[in-house]
Amino acid sequence: MTDAVIYIDPLMIHPVIDGVWHHARLVGIPDPGEAITMLCGVTGVAAFLPLGQRRHRTIPRQCERCDALVRQQRGIPLWQQRIRRS
Ligand SMILES: [Zn+2]
Repeated sequence: MTDAVIYIDPLMIHPVIDGVWHHARLVGIPDPGEAITMLCGVTGVAAFLPLGQRRHRTIPRQCERCDALVRQQRGIPLWQQRIRRS
């Protein structure tokens, strides 16, 4: 049978661990069960679910350490600094 390819941009993958979403430097799509390390150092095992199955009980939060590292790498001021400036 012919492949029906689903393309996923690794840069758009933000793994969620215990309701907190992180940044990870992925070079490709991880295999289910593959261990992945977030920028902040937290590790987890890759699992894939449809977006609709994301738990709605908690408000998704962003990992502050991952956010700070990404902003530092891209030269973007921290949100705390931007608030102070205005
Ligand atoms: Zn993180």
